[in-house]
Amino acid sequence: MDYLPVFLDLRGRLVLVVGGGAVASRKVELLLQAQARVRVVAPQLHPELVRHRDAGRIEHHGGEFEPQQLQGAAFAIAATDQREINHAVAAAGAARAVFVNVVDDVGASSALMPAIVDRSPLIVAVGTGGHSPVLARRVRAQLEALLPERLGELARLAGRARERARLLLPDIDQRRRFWERLLAGSVASQALAGRAQEAQRLLDDALQAAASGAPGARGEVYLIGAGPGDPDLLTLRAQQLLQQCDVVLYDRLVSAAVLARARRDAERVFVGKESGRHRVTQERIHALLLEHAGRGMRVARLKGGDPFIFGRGGEEIDVLARAGITVIVVPGITAALGAAAAAVLPLTQRGQAQSVTFVTATGEGAQALDWRSLAAPLQTVVFYMGVAQLPRIVAHLRAHDAPATRPAAIVERATLPEQRVIAGCLDDIVQRAQGAQVQAPALLIVGDVAARAAHAHGQQFIGSLVPTGSTKA
Ligand code: SAH
Repeated sequence: MDYLPVFLDLRGRLVLVVGGGAVASRKVELLLQAQARVRVVAPQLHPELVRHRDAGRIEHHGGEFEPQQLQGAAFAIAATDQREINHAVAAAGAARAVFVNVVDDVGASSALMPAIVDRSPLIVAVGTGGHSPVLARRVRAQLEALLPERLGELARLAGRARERARLLLPDIDQRRRFWERLLAGSVASQALAGRAQEAQRLLDDALQAAASGAPGARGEVYLIGAGPGDPDLLTLRAQQLLQQCDVVLYDRLVSAAVLARARRDAERVFVGKESGRHRVTQERIHALLLEHAGRGMRVARLKGGDPFIFGRGGEEIDVLARAGITVIVVPGITAALGAAAAAVLPLTQRGQAQSVTFVTATGEGAQALDWRSLAAPLQTVVFYMGVAQLPRIVAHLRAHDAPATRPAAIVERATLPEQRVIAGCLDDIVQRAQGAQVQAPALLIVGDVAARAAHAHGQQFIGSLVPTGSTKA
C-alpha cells in the first residue's frame, strides 16, 4: 500500500490553496464543506472565489506565492497551471512537514485527493494512487448507484443509539451481533426508505428485545415493481432491496434478467399464474408472504411493472398490515411507460393527445368500461390485456364511433430483447396481430400518437404508416 487513506478533521484549521482558477475553486468548495479556514493565494480569482471572498468565507492574498503563507497551515493544495509555482509550494510544504496535494501531479504530491461519495457522516473515498483518476471516478459512479441516498441518516440514527446500546448490552460480542442484525434488517430498510420515525421505533424495540434476551428479529416485505423486463429499468432502491432479501416471491411477468439481480443465495419462489388457470391463488400468495415474514425473513415480493398498476398490490399490503408486518413499497416502471419509451412513442403530445388512460380489459370488467369516453379523440388509451381480448376491444371502440383509421400499435414483450411493435389502425390491427402471431405479454396503444411507432421503426417495422390527425370518421 503506497498511500494511507485518512479522514482529516479540518474544522477551523487553516488550509492554503495556491491558484485561483476553476480547479482551485472546486477544491475550495470542498474545503469549505469540510469547514476549513481557507487562504487562497492568486493574482486573479475565479468568479466563485470572488463571491466567497466578498462574503468573507475565504482569505485572499493577491500577490505571488511565498513560503511563509504556509505558516500555520495543516494542509495545502497547489492548483495553478504553472509547474514551477506548484513545485515551489510542494517544496515549501516538505520543508515545513505540511502535506501538499499538487493537482494532476502525483510525483510532486505528498497527499492525493480521492474521488468522494458523500453520504455524510458516511463518506467513501476512492483513490488509485494517481494511476488512473478516471478509473477512480468510474468506481465512484458505481458506488453512487449502489449506496442509498439516506445512508448518512442511518449512520446518524445508529450513532444516536450507540451509548444506549453500550449500557443495555454490556457484552461487546453481543453488541456487535445486535448492530449487524439491525443494519441488515428492517430498521435499516425503513430508514433508507425515508421513514425515520418507524425506523426509530423499530430500533427502540430491537434494543429492548435484545437487552431482555428475546430474539427480536422481525420479518418484513418489500413490494417491488420489477418494471417491464429490462433489468436496467429497475430503480436503485429495488436493486438495493433485492440484494438484501432472503426470499423472492415472483410473478410470471418478472423477467429472468430481473430475477438474476436478486441476492445469489436468496430463495426464489415462483407464484405466477398460468394463463387464466390459477396455479397459485392470491390466497396462497398471501399465506406465503405471512409465513416467510413471520419467520423473520426479508421477503421481496417482485411484481411486473408497478405493483399498484393492475398488480393486486393493494390486497397484499392490506393482508400484511393486518398481520402487523411492515411493508416497503418500491414503484416500478409500468409496462405502458416501458413500451412507450422502447417504441419511441410519446403518450401525450400537443394537438394529438391531452391525456393518457391505462385500462385493463381482461375479464368481465371489460363490459363495464366507459367505452364512449375511451373512444373519444385527442387522447391515448393503453390497454393492458390478454392478447385474446384484442378483437373485443377494437369492436367496442368501433361501436362507440372511434374511426377505423385511428392509429393503433401493439407492443409485445416491451423492453425485452424480443420486443416487437406492430402498427396499424383500428381497421387492421386485429388482422396484423394475428398475422404476426402476437403473444402475451402485450399492450395495445390506441390514439394518434401510435402512428409514430411506425415512423420510428422504419423498415424493421411490422405494419404500415397510417395518416395522422385522422380521428374523425
Ligand atoms: N403491474 C403491471 C401490469 C400487470 S397486468 C405493470 O405495471 O406493468 C399484465 C399486463 O401488463 C399484461 O397482460 C400486458 O398487457 C402488460 N405487460 C406487462 N409487461 C409487459 C411487457 N413487457 N410488454 C408488454 N406488455 C406488458
